[in-house]
Amino acid sequence: MTSPSAPLCGRHEEEISMSLRTLHTDSARPGQLLGLYECPDCGDERRWPIELSEVA
Ligand SMILES: [Zn+2]
Repeated sequence: MTSPSAPLCGRHEEEISMSLRTLHTDSARPGQLLGLYECPDCGDERRWPIELSEVA
């Protein structure tokens, strides 16, 4: 079981997957979700596009 769309935090040499905090809809792009991800290690936040097909 993997989460294919989770971004990696760029602040670490090792690969640390960021955790999904909240989901947002992008009104400019229907069908596109934006996930707000947070690094569990340093707390850095990043918005990352999520394909609906991956969430369904
Ligand atoms: Zn981090």
